[in-house]
Amino acid sequence: MRLIHFIQIGDKNSLAIHNLVNDLNSVQSEFVFSFHDDIIKYPEEIDLSHPVYSEKLETLVGNYISSRFRDRYPVAICDCQFEEDMFSVFGHNLAIISTYYWANESSQQVQHCIAFTLIDIILNLYIDAKIHYESIGCPMDYCSRGQMKEGLARCNFCSECQYQILKSIETGKITLQQKVAIDKILDLISGRKYCFVIMPFHKSFDKIFNCIQSAFNKSNWVCNRADEIYEPTQVVNIIWEQILRSNLIISDLTGRNANVFYELGYAHALGKNTILITQSIDDIPFDLRHLRCIEYSKTAKGYRKLSEIIQRYLQGPRDQL
Ligand SMILES: [Zn+2]
Repeated sequence: MRLIHFIQIGDKNSLAIHNLVNDLNSVQSEFVFSFHDDIIKYPEEIDLSHPVYSEKLETLVGNYISSRFRDRYPVAICDCQFEEDMFSVFGHNLAIISTYYWANESSQQVQHCIAFTLIDIILNLYIDAKIHYESIGCPMDYCSRGQMKEGLARCNFCSECQYQILKSIETGKITLQQKVAIDKILDLISGRKYCFVIMPFHKSFDKIFNCIQSAFNKSNWVCNRADEIYEPTQVVNIIWEQILRSNLIISDLTGRNANVFYELGYAHALGKNTILITQSIDDIPFDLRHLRCIEYSKTAKGYRKLSEIIQRYLQGPRDQL
């Protein structure tokens, strides 16, 4: 668990930082964010009518934190025009984010921009992620305002960064849980939710998956399943990652497939919301029958019904989803 503490420079952003801390702490638990109204005023010698040199702010914050927050990584949020466009990182000691260019945006937009900038800062505490100078809508783009907009619209790592992060999990630089926590922050910003479908790897389940996926059309949900396209060595990592990241798990227990039960057990241990589906209720063990189970038939009518039941579930009063 890593503690990240916000410090405010200047008068603005208090509300945005408070709300952001609540949101960030509610979607993941690998990083604990805090803000205790630590507000630093700009000293008079800093001329705010011109871009401020980041070194000046570094000294300002450095003096403030010298004896405090030894166990926390400080992230300062300033509202002045910054020499660097958006943010500056001072090794593993401090990061400063400027909200100057978002002064006319809503408080929520400011929160999203800070959170998006944090992705780069947090990831670089673990791995030496490369910055893209070209704009490809990735959190690791060199951030100008235009690139930030593109990144926010996509809210995902590019495939090159994904690969680099997965490699870093293999070499132990970052854990899968930390990677998923970062992805959860991206999901928070974009307002999307994930459903992961656990089912046997067999062509006969393709239609059923398509039918489940259709229930999520026109929604902010992304519905995935682990596919055979992945290398066998990667499958386990990808499945664990998807289960960890998901807000909902749909598990097809037809045929009592051992892998399906194993993955479902992991999802239950994590306390995930689950829907169990099956072609025969006899495939659901007695001790799981008190959970939400849907029996469906392998007919066009059965598929339609299954899709409708899942849609109704998504529309139900389930705040935790
Ligand atoms: Zn990238």
